[in-house]
Amino acid sequence: MAVSGRKKGPVSPAVAGPVAVYPGSFDPITNGHLDIVKRALAVFPRVVVAVAFNPNKDSSLFTAEERVATIREALVEFGDRIEVDTFSGLLVDYAKRIEAAVVVRGLRAVSDFEYEFQMTMMNRHLAPAIETVFLMAGAQYFYTSSRLVKEVALFGGDVRAHVPPAVRRRLAAKLGTRLGRGRKRR
Ligand code: ADP
Repeated sequence: MAVSGRKKGPVSPAVAGPVAVYPGSFDPITNGHLDIVKRALAVFPRVVVAVAFNPNKDSSLFTAEERVATIREALVEFGDRIEVDTFSGLLVDYAKRIEAAVVVRGLRAVSDFEYEFQMTMMNRHLAPAIETVFLMAGAQYFYTSSRLVKEVALFGGDVRAHVPPAVRRRLAAKLGTRLGRGRKRR
């Protein structure tokens, strides 16, 4: 399913160097994710942010289309160095299809390590030529997660430090909550 409407096949690099794919649920994208994307762009000429979705059973708050639109909006300043796409199925199959040589993942704390380690080893077993690279977000994002952001937003808490303004607005609309503190009074 081509939610984002990109043409199938390899990503054509504007600048020489390996294409990196940054996969995730991004439900929704947070400032921690954005920090990782920016760090990845300092290393790789092009980064494909790939929204994972399950066509049969997707328990995400935002649809894949909404997630793609939000990510595009948040990263518009990077032009064609960023591509936002969706995929279902195995990440390594998707990475091969778009000819990405590198998978980027983010690490917050030791708690991320076990899961990321297992997944990297499985991906390496399935596709030895694809390398996984880990980047660490800035310390201010160590406790930022999509799950916590959704929980806090659900009860009207202030998530401004954790998500870009467009995500905050979409969260409020989706959850029917107020935008949290800091709104202008009329
Ligand atoms: P997934 O559902 O695949 O874990 P997520 O959208 O939760 O996808 O996260 C995608 C990647 O970004 C994962 O590697 C995750 O560890 C990383 N990540 C998420 N939040 C942060 C953060 N605040 N700082 C650094 N990395 C993060």
